[in-house]
Amino acid sequence: MKKRILLLVIILVASAVIVLYWMNRRVDQSSKMMALVNGFVIDGSGKDPISNGTVLIQGSKITAVGRSVDVQIPAEANKIDLEGKTVLPGWIDSHVHNAFDPVLRRRFLEIGITSVCDLGSPLERMEEFKTDSFEGKSVARGLKAGPIITAPGGLPDAVLKEDLNYEIGSPNQARQAVPFFLKQGADVLKIYLENKAGEKSYPMLNENTLKALVDEAHSKNLLVRAHVTKLSLLPLALEANVDVIEHLPKPDLREAVLREKISKSKQPEKDLYDAMVIPEYESAFAFMIEKKTVLVPTLRAGLGRFHKSAEANKWQKILAQGVIDLIGRYFRQGGTIALGTDFNPNNDHPLDMLYQEMNLLREAGLSPMDIILAGTKNAAYVCGHANDLGKIEPGKLADIVILEENPLENPSALRKLHAVIKNGKIAWK
Ligand SMILES: [Zn+2]
Repeated sequence: MKKRILLLVIILVASAVIVLYWMNRRVDQSSKMMALVNGFVIDGSGKDPISNGTVLIQGSKITAVGRSVDVQIPAEANKIDLEGKTVLPGWIDSHVHNAFDPVLRRRFLEIGITSVCDLGSPLERMEEFKTDSFEGKSVARGLKAGPIITAPGGLPDAVLKEDLNYEIGSPNQARQAVPFFLKQGADVLKIYLENKAGEKSYPMLNENTLKALVDEAHSKNLLVRAHVTKLSLLPLALEANVDVIEHLPKPDLREAVLREKISKSKQPEKDLYDAMVIPEYESAFAFMIEKKTVLVPTLRAGLGRFHKSAEANKWQKILAQGVIDLIGRYFRQGGTIALGTDFNPNNDHPLDMLYQEMNLLREAGLSPMDIILAGTKNAAYVCGHANDLGKIEPGKLADIVILEENPLENPSALRKLHAVIKNGKIAWK
């Protein structure tokens, strides 16, 4: 009998402990409610901004956004008055390399980049992208493609030798690669369509293997992003239905070819410009737009870096102007642009490349709002995260940057950071 009573007491105490634990958890979660009030909210959807808006966050997610008069704030929420500062979705750099290191990703977060998408790192580094903090501090979310899918013996590793290749030689291997990458945690797939480095030729994915890969990836809701720098290879990518083109595909710009073109010319500046801005772009851009293919131009990492640069020579500046004009033309024609920089810590690139990229997009004719969409909604899409990132709307992860001033009035305010929120927590201020 005594034993029974003892057992009953144990059960009762255990139940009480469990109930108290759950009650505590509930209290704990509701205390993590945050209300950003009196903000100028640009939600990343392209809709008109909300002046005097409120964003309600619970745990890691956004639960409400709207005019302050329309959003009910629960009494227990931690209320933060933004005094008219601008609220945006966190910046996403959709094209970087070797960003597995959380120390590097902390530095990204400190300039407002709440997610990066790595488009080429060795397979054995993929695990490291899961690390979400460094010394207790939040770091930019590490989305990734993992290694780059290419043909056996193909680029980029045929030249770079950085253990970046994942080689497939048949449609069958292509289909097997997709579940393998998913198992490794890939957010998107990256392929390399390039068959020359200098004058040397290398194997490249053929049409059948490429199509098998893209079809299989799409059946598993994975996007395929293609490195394409030659205009002549763009149709191959588009006909296989790849989702995103990385870099601006260009005409043949080998130095020998250009020299030949301008050496005997009476108007060498114009001839060089015309060698870059060729009529074929008209139909190439139309094909991209018809296929709804997004472009990540990575201007700053390419010829764009010479634009209005004190260090560039006359010829480099002409080519850079051509690139800027082409991006403007693509955009006005109706093309979609996502922000990505090709940042690579091994290549001596500056951390604030994202802001330099924004400046170049502005030179190409994008408005501050267009640039914001390129760096939020569109970047989230090309990273395979349109569902949970890139916009301030209920259900999305609460990744938010707060700017001191309104960037729609003053574009230089795009980099005037006040605070960064990631996963619903203030990550930098
Ligand atoms: Zn790249």
